[in-house]
Amino acid sequence: MFHDDQKLIQDKVSFALLDWYASHKRLLPWRDPQGMPTDPYRVWVSEIMLQQTTVSTVRGYFERFVSRWPTVHHLADAALDDVLHEWQGLGYYSRARNLHKWARVIIKKFDGVFPTAEEDLLSLPGVGPYTAAAIQSIAFNYPSTVVDGNVERVIARLFSLKAPLPQAKSEIHKLATQIRSEVQPSNYAQALMDLGSSVCVPKSPKCDICPLEKFCSAKNKNPEAFPVRQEKKEKPTRHGIFYFIQDRKGRIFLEKRSLSGGLLSGLMALPSEGWDSGNDDPAVRLKLKNIKPFPQKVRHVFTHFSLVAEVRYAESAIVDGLWVFPEELQDYALPTLMKKILKLALQEIAG
Ligand code: SF4
Repeated sequence: MFHDDQKLIQDKVSFALLDWYASHKRLLPWRDPQGMPTDPYRVWVSEIMLQQTTVSTVRGYFERFVSRWPTVHHLADAALDDVLHEWQGLGYYSRARNLHKWARVIIKKFDGVFPTAEEDLLSLPGVGPYTAAAIQSIAFNYPSTVVDGNVERVIARLFSLKAPLPQAKSEIHKLATQIRSEVQPSNYAQALMDLGSSVCVPKSPKCDICPLEKFCSAKNKNPEAFPVRQEKKEKPTRHGIFYFIQDRKGRIFLEKRSLSGGLLSGLMALPSEGWDSGNDDPAVRLKLKNIKPFPQKVRHVFTHFSLVAEVRYAESAIVDGLWVFPEELQDYALPTLMKKILKLALQEIAG
């Protein structure tokens, strides 16, 4: 691709893409149906909601949010608790807190007028280079390079990039900037994102109907192979022992893990040893007796390692500490690993 004059190709790509977009754009509640640059407040709310969340989930939340707080002034006046409540179910609550904080900064620092300069946008809570570029181009029709996951895929395929992600990110950004349209930046940015989400999809891209097909160097080379992904290193495996300790009343012993950082910090857990540096020797500390291993093991995957957990039944004569009946376990903040271990142990003792 791009052996001809760079500017000529850039114009052809823009023309083909914008022409396709005119009849294929997705109708989304935060977009102007006529393709005009959109209210920056709506762009901003949608972009923050779309971080880590799919378009189909965001639609309903977005509509409820902007009908309750239609402008940045309304949002700045809102109580944070109400904003968090409206956010319920979307997850990643720091986004809601940042939106609320940002609304107040816009009112206080920028007199209620959305800033357009990149450095001002980047100074706002929760705004990174992608969100700043999206607001600049979609809301203000400013030629910024907007690269989300969809655009990354389109560019990697157009140029058959050999470098794997994430190392290829800066090259992708450079190439996306080179082919960027200066004519209709807002539409162009959204067109490229839409192309990635509906045509140049991860599996079985629809090259036969793609407006960029004649410019694409991956088209006849198994496009699914792009972007190249770095081979995942196999995770190391750790082994740990977890004690399911019961008293005569059938209560189970729980303890809170250390608050000084580390895995599952501050969460309720069964005493354990051998799998992370914070463990001590529960058998001695809790005067355990009648220790018997359950035949089955529990497997759990953390970000950096896999864990094989041996679960041991034990009894203890100690009375201090937190003893919980099985039916009360749901009242405690138990991490998934502990829930898996408790489930196995309760099944085993039920016979
Ligand atoms: S031709 Fe195929 S691989 Fe290339 S950009 Fe279009 S859909 Fe993606």
